[in-house]
Amino acid sequence: MSAPARVFYLTTPIYYVNATPHLGHAYTTIIADAMARYHRLAGHDVRFLTGTDEHGDKIAQAAAKAGVRPQGYTDQISAAFRQAWQRLGITNDDFIRTTEERHKTIVRQILQTLWDAGEIYLGKYGGHYCFGCERFYTEKEIVDGTCPDHRTPLTWIEEENYFFKMSKYQGWLIELIESRPDLIRPERYRNEILGFLREPLQDLSISRPTKRLEWGIPLPFDDKYVTYVWFDALINYVSALGPPGGETFNRYWPHVEHLIGKDILKPHAIYWPCMLKAAGLDVFRRLDVHGYWNIGGGKMSKSIGNVVEALALTDKYGHDAFRYFLMREMTFGLDADFSEEALVGRLNADLANDLGNLVSRATTLIVNSGGVSRVPAETELDDLERQIRDRFARVREGVDEAMAEFAFQKALARIWELIGLLNGYVDVSKPWELAKSAAARPRLERVLYVLGESLRFLGIVLAPFLPDAAGKIRRAVGQTGEPKLSEAAWGRLEPGTAIERLSGLFPRIDKEERSKEEQIGKTDAASRTSSRPPTERAGLADPATTTPELANSVSIDQFSKIDLRVAEIIAAEAVAKSKKLLKLTVSLGDSQRTVVAGIAEHYAPADLVGKKVVIVANLEPAKLMGIESQGMVLVGSAGDRWAVLTLDRDLPPGARVK
Ligand SMILES: [Zn+2]
Repeated sequence: MSAPARVFYLTTPIYYVNATPHLGHAYTTIIADAMARYHRLAGHDVRFLTGTDEHGDKIAQAAAKAGVRPQGYTDQISAAFRQAWQRLGITNDDFIRTTEERHKTIVRQILQTLWDAGEIYLGKYGGHYCFGCERFYTEKEIVDGTCPDHRTPLTWIEEENYFFKMSKYQGWLIELIESRPDLIRPERYRNEILGFLREPLQDLSISRPTKRLEWGIPLPFDDKYVTYVWFDALINYVSALGPPGGETFNRYWPHVEHLIGKDILKPHAIYWPCMLKAAGLDVFRRLDVHGYWNIGGGKMSKSIGNVVEALALTDKYGHDAFRYFLMREMTFGLDADFSEEALVGRLNADLANDLGNLVSRATTLIVNSGGVSRVPAETELDDLERQIRDRFARVREGVDEAMAEFAFQKALARIWELIGLLNGYVDVSKPWELAKSAAARPRLERVLYVLGESLRFLGIVLAPFLPDAAGKIRRAVGQTGEPKLSEAAWGRLEPGTAIERLSGLFPRIDKEERSKEEQIGKTDAASRTSSRPPTERAGLADPATTTPELANSVSIDQFSKIDLRVAEIIAAEAVAKSKKLLKLTVSLGDSQRTVVAGIAEHYAPADLVGKKVVIVANLEPAKLMGIESQGMVLVGSAGDRWAVLTLDRDLPPGARVK
């Protein structure tokens, strides 16, 4: 009789479908995947859940903007998430959508339970409301007392809403967090929540009237209201297991751990335990909180942050390299910097050099020397070989401890210590020399065994982190079937195992090749953002005296597509809140139009009125600071000296320029 397997239930946040997947989503999902794979490797009964959060006013607005119904909109974005995870090789066991009936049923059940128990009451909610946006704005979102979108004054309105009696759980929650030091990890986030709980906890508004928002789950006890999106979303962790009290729920719920980013700490660390307590359900076992990725030293920008670029990077360098970088570079819980340079640095140093070279050298030596012929006797091993053998157990313990606290970077560092030891072993034992003399044969056989056995070990312990590479290593040393952590122990490699040469596991990325690619514009936006183009020598050249290089040639046909016209400036004014922009009204003879020009630092509006300038008349209209610009004024510049192009003889407005 074997003991029942340890159960492990891990969730990612369900991602809000108001945006397509970006690097932050990819990171959370990838580390959750590595954690799930690690527990499966250890033989645990694992359930790994991810999904999408699909209700609320932001979704309704995004759908309206796209001109589609909310359900159609969420179907599309939710599918984008599922496809992204498929491409990244994510091994989630379930994917839940909050628009699924299985979820809505449980939300209604829990709401009804809370209503029946008197945990919910009808009260008044007051807030700053924008009639244009049809929504409330929080104090933080308001700009100078106006709507951040419309820049119009907001109206204080009060409306009836349903409230969850969260305030009454404040004392209980503080006690819970204090009595369970590892409930919220790392500790900084636990402290943040305890700090927050020093202020009085408010009751939570859990409804929105349908006259303002229809896109949500109707309250089971009042269909004039839908459920507030957070109250709906958090319940996914339960609803994905089916009804509370059911078999699946009873099996997994006692072991649930939530993995989240720090931006959603408060709903998970405050609302959620109170909701569970009120509903008579156990509080989660752990809440594990990670930090943000900064790109180029700043906050994640949209241009690189979207998963298209993240996926482009994984296509370029491989899923394993991308995963490795994300896990090795970020200290769990803290922020880290993302750049393609750093990724390539890790790929070259840790993966190509340390791991790739070891695998290539070891398999080549074994194959060239006739394979692994025998298990060396204990008494034969020298000091270094005993160190390597003993390191197996230490690596396993180290990785286990690190993974128990989501310290992926530490787990990988433990494994790489062994890889370093092994590379040193190849250097000092010089098997290629041993192969030259028959007398050294017994020693050579020992070395080959140590190397083959070490690769077998690495093929197992690397599996959660580098699933593709680990699979290749296992196959190269003749291992078939699913890897098991219990087999990551010394002395299991069978003599006579068929071993194959494995080289080029992680090809080195040549820096010069990369910059060539950049010059011909082949690389994606991600690499352009993160690496300085070779021609840009920051701070060295004086812009006023340097002639910029001429651009590539265009054909006369291409040029003739640009409609240049003489335009007379009739009016000019500064654009509010912009240092650079002027709003110009120009005449093209038979018509007038608005053109926004970025010349406010060089021209006063009055200096421009009456001038005849040249504009690009068929440029796609663009909105700048809320003003639609229908064209572009041609302006020359040399450093700080800017000049608007004018005519040296008079021509009527609207005249063609070519
Ligand atoms: Zn508004």
